[in-house]
Amino acid sequence: MKDKKIIAYKNERVKKFAYNLRKLIIDVVMGEWSRLGVVQRGNPTSVYLKIEDERSDLLRMLRASIYECPCCHQAERDMYFNGPMQEWFCTQCVQKYRDYYQKQKAIHGDLKVDDDDFYVTFL
Ligand SMILES: [Zn+2]
Repeated sequence: MKDKKIIAYKNERVKKFAYNLRKLIIDVVMGEWSRLGVVQRGNPTSVYLKIEDERSDLLRMLRASIYECPCCHQAERDMYFNGPMQEWFCTQCVQKYRDYYQKQKAIHGDLKVDDDDFYVTFL
C-alpha cells in the first residue's frame, strides 16, 4: 500500500453505506471485546491475561483499521492512510496535526518539536 492514501466517498449513497458498514463492524468488535471482558472475570491469572491479550489485539486491530479514527474515534469521515504509522486517521485529525506542527515550527524554528517524529508522518 502507498505511504499516503485518502478514502473519500463522493456518492452520498455509497458514503452512507460505507459509514453504516464501518459502524456495524465497530459494534461487532466492541461487542466481542465486552463479551471477553465478562468471560475473563474470576479466571486464574494466566487465563485472565491470555483473554486480556485477545481483547488488546481486538482494540489494536480496530484502531489500525479504516473503520474509525484512532484519535477522535469517528467512523463517519473521509480517511487518510498514514503509511509510516500503518494507521488510518480521519482527514480532520490529519489537518489538526499538520496545523499544530506548522504552528510549533513557526514558534520554535528548526528546533525539534516534542513528538516531531509523530507529526512529520502526516506531512
Ligand atoms: Zn479523527
